[in-house]
Amino acid sequence: MSSVPPDDPALHLAVAFVNTYDLLEDPPDYLTAERAGRLADRFGQPDLAAPLRHADLDALRAVRDRLYGVFAADTDDGKLAALDDVLAHVDARARMRDGRLAAVAADADPVRRLGALCADALARAMAVGGPGRFGTCAGHPCRCGYVDRTRAGRQRFCCQLCNDRTAAAAYRQRRRVN
Ligand SMILES: [Zn+2]
Repeated sequence: MSSVPPDDPALHLAVAFVNTYDLLEDPPDYLTAERAGRLADRFGQPDLAAPLRHADLDALRAVRDRLYGVFAADTDDGKLAALDDVLAHVDARARMRDGRLAAVAADADPVRRLGALCADALARAMAVGGPGRFGTCAGHPCRCGYVDRTRAGRQRFCCQLCNDRTAAAAYRQRRRVN
């Protein structure tokens, strides 16, 4: 049993950003520059919200889809490789920030700054809890990413709704069989 990753606003931002592609939504991809900005603002990064523009949307998607690989890869090595890929993609550097080592973007580009911030949060969670704390929802058709912050480390769903949805479907299935 691994340690529980810390309750970090940047980690919540990373998960919320990754899950702007959600198969339970119509259309599944509901990312906009404005939405990314609102998420940044909500999770304590208001300075990242203002400079994001509609023209950044393709770049935002490219970063988001790479971040998703950290959740979706089948193996620990795959999750690490996906994290490495994000860090390279946003051209992140190791710097001292607030008395700790952090991955930060080398320039002021808001998309790369957001990507580096999310990748840094994932790296910190992974350093504490290991890659096995990252997963994607088992509540078909949902494939949203989650970071398992339960003590036991046996989370399978992204949220209570998906947990309940799957339990209800299993219950109906049993009733049909009996
Ligand atoms: Zn789900």
